[in-house]
Amino acid sequence: MAVQQRRNSRTRRDKRRTHYKLAAPTLVKCPYCGAMKRPHHACPNCGRVGNEKEPAPEAAAEGQQN
Ligand SMILES: [Zn+2]
Repeated sequence: MAVQQRRNSRTRRDKRRTHYKLAAPTLVKCPYCGAMKRPHHACPNCGRVGNEKEPAPEAAAEGQQN
């Protein structure tokens, strides 16, 4: 296993951390209810996935406020 030989400088540490960042999730509008949802995922508001006419059965129980 590699063993650290010397301490990194603050500059080197901070340069490494320039890549640490959060990415905003991609959201699309649900074609059925208009809520924002993640693409290729069931809608959190109406439970529908893709071109389904009816909500997926396991998603129908949750998120039926519409
Ligand atoms: Zn929806």
